[in-house]
Amino acid sequence: MFYSLLSAQKLTTPAEFLGYSVGQKFTPHHRLVGYFERIAQQAPERVKLMPYGSTNEGRPLMVAVVSTPGNIDRLESIRVNNLRLANVARDRAAAIEADAPALVWLSYNVHGNEASSSEASLLTLYTLALQSDTAVQRWLKNTVVIIDPCLNPDGRDRYVNWYNSVVGEKYDPANLSREHREPWPGGRTNHYYFDLNRDWAWQIQIESHQRMKLYLDWMPQVHVDFHEQGYNEPYYFAPAAEPFHEVITPWQRSFQNSIGKNHARYFDSNGWLYFTKQVFDLLYPSYGDTYPTYNGSIGMTYEQGGIGAGLGVINKDEDTLTLTDRALHHFTTSMSTIEVAANQSGSLISEFRKYFNQAVSTGQGVYKSYLIRNRPQDAVRIRALQQLLDRNGIRYEQATAGPVKGVHYATGKETMITAQAGDLVISTLQPRAAMVTVLFEPRTKLADTVTYDITAWSLPYAYGLDAIASKDKIASQPVNQEGEKRRFVRSTYGYAIPWDGLPAVRLATSIGKAGIVLRYAEQPFTTAGKSFAAGTVLVIPASNQHLGERFHEIVKEYTLNSDAAIFPIATGLVDAGSDFGSERVRNLRLPRVVLLSGEGVNANACGEIWQFFDQQLKYPISLVNQQDLGRMNWSQVDVMILSDGNYSFLANKDQAEACKKWMQGGGRLIALESAVTQLGEWGVKVKKSEDKKTESTDSVVTSDYQARERDAVSAITPGSIWQVQLDNSHPLAYGYPKSYYTLKLDGNILEPLSEEGWNVGVLGSGAHVAGFVGNGLKSKLANGTLFGVQSVGRGQIVCLTDNPLFRSFWENGKLLFSNAVFMVGQ
Ligand SMILES: [Zn+2]
Repeated sequence: MFYSLLSAQKLTTPAEFLGYSVGQKFTPHHRLVGYFERIAQQAPERVKLMPYGSTNEGRPLMVAVVSTPGNIDRLESIRVNNLRLANVARDRAAAIEADAPALVWLSYNVHGNEASSSEASLLTLYTLALQSDTAVQRWLKNTVVIIDPCLNPDGRDRYVNWYNSVVGEKYDPANLSREHREPWPGGRTNHYYFDLNRDWAWQIQIESHQRMKLYLDWMPQVHVDFHEQGYNEPYYFAPAAEPFHEVITPWQRSFQNSIGKNHARYFDSNGWLYFTKQVFDLLYPSYGDTYPTYNGSIGMTYEQGGIGAGLGVINKDEDTLTLTDRALHHFTTSMSTIEVAANQSGSLISEFRKYFNQAVSTGQGVYKSYLIRNRPQDAVRIRALQQLLDRNGIRYEQATAGPVKGVHYATGKETMITAQAGDLVISTLQPRAAMVTVLFEPRTKLADTVTYDITAWSLPYAYGLDAIASKDKIASQPVNQEGEKRRFVRSTYGYAIPWDGLPAVRLATSIGKAGIVLRYAEQPFTTAGKSFAAGTVLVIPASNQHLGERFHEIVKEYTLNSDAAIFPIATGLVDAGSDFGSERVRNLRLPRVVLLSGEGVNANACGEIWQFFDQQLKYPISLVNQQDLGRMNWSQVDVMILSDGNYSFLANKDQAEACKKWMQGGGRLIALESAVTQLGEWGVKVKKSEDKKTESTDSVVTSDYQARERDAVSAITPGSIWQVQLDNSHPLAYGYPKSYYTLKLDGNILEPLSEEGWNVGVLGSGAHVAGFVGNGLKSKLANGTLFGVQSVGRGQIVCLTDNPLFRSFWENGKLLFSNAVFMVGQ
């Protein structure tokens, strides 16, 4: 093995640096970083460190670029040339194929508690930096290796610090011992309990956001995402399983085969077990394998058995699996990957070039362009979409006026519309053609329905935009990139903030937090010829006399820092609707919000809400562990949120009674996903399936695999899109038109709420829009309520059967969730 060929030490070995051999202990993140810094110092002509940011908890993020001194010396020109190969360089200079080395990017430890891979990265770095082995020297002549030792330092340290705190002097291999049982929330996710291996495209989390800037600056030909699965599983490597998205090319598939064969050679010679072509598909675009694949790379996931194994565990074969073994396996596939890339660097480069030349000349898929209509009510959501496209290096233009034929997303039918100047056009004739197709096509093409993640994510639905997919090239011109300057126009009478999206919620609540009393209009109104929808927030001095001129200064300060629209209002006399002094214009009191956390709660779902308040809204929220609920002072809480999870407090008579009393007195309970199904006592009834078969064995995901790497979101409908009819006169649907596209992750739907309830978002019949749905479920998912409000005394239960904050990428759901928090029950 490469490992044993080390000689002529000029570089500090991992063991010398750490004081133990790789695999003997878990290495805290700062020690990993320390080793990378040491090697970069000792071999600056072969190793270059590139910091790219820091985590929520302040840990550094960085990659090490390793190659021969000759390549490191001309690194910047290699990088720029590589972008020219991909047709994404800023300049128009010609790319040079000859002598272009292949870029291999190795991503370790995106899931914090799959902790062997960062340990392996130490071995990879050392071996590549040392270059004592002639094979390694030869490989690096035509390969530049980019090593990210840890994509998720916060999660990794959460796991490592916990593990180190519970392990004895010698590890205990018995699988029931506590060192193999991680406490809530576990180390898999980042600080906000987000799965960073679902976030590549959306880049909601700062780790992804910062990393993707660097990634798109390099565009590697090969990318490997190192993972671990349950410790009873043998090693998994490429080729991947069906379904493959149809944009994946034969070359991308065949290269995966070459890689797999080479790995098998090493694993066979060591007598190690492995498997390929199962479980891990290539479809959902936000993984560490699919995202690179849709960006012209060979993107792969490797999986070592090991989650929960600690330093050693007895597995089902009565064998002890050690961290040393796990790290060695990942190190072996790392080197084997580099070997194949090096041996085929010529064809990697020419196929990469061909891929991107084809993208710009013929595009991708059946649709040549996607048109997003720029209606006035869509401004906020269009801006959010543009930001997402920018983050992914996807180009867009604005339409020139004229007729356009294509499939209308709202109806699924071929239609003819007149494009207006200012409508957004995204052409597939661009370098990232595959990514455009995958993100925009109205219906994902599935080769097979067995998948481990959602099967629908089409952006026009996720962003709530009116769009057309056209087989023609729609005429367009560059977007005027000069953003509107934020302006503030002082108005003696006051201001109106249309309640139309996240920026408005953020602006209104920050003004409110600064001490200004807010009001909102229960009905639409028109003043000075301008119409405002129900839910519009009014910021008027009349309720804030004590602030004097400071009132306008506060509004100005927040307005200038906001993306939201705010309008000066000249008079309280409206042309239509209710005058501002009427009782239909009510106070908007900012609530004190509690989110339940801890054992039993789905950490991802809880984290989505926490991150939304903390990072997106900048609004205070208290996380209270469910087991501490008995000690909560209910009178200090206005809103309590139950994310997806199991709520045992509901079965505790005293606590359930306290909660009910709190609601009767005006408290608001927001329940999402499975939490909704636990509220039967309070009049919320889940609809039973009409077809018994649905809930039994014809699930698309077998339960054995659920504990694996890609935990299935649902056995029945793995993320499909449905059209919901909204009662937008109800505060829960303020700011929306009469319909909303929801991402359904399960088969739950409510019986219509009776008497004391409002059915705000309902599914009629035939509401399925896109994505896979199990047989029989379509008939159940009809004529019921998905979003509703049940009155309990003076308080409410808000039922959100679907999670509008799922992975925080369903942009159009954020206002719905905000309505539940801020508008319902005022
Ligand atoms: Zn993983």
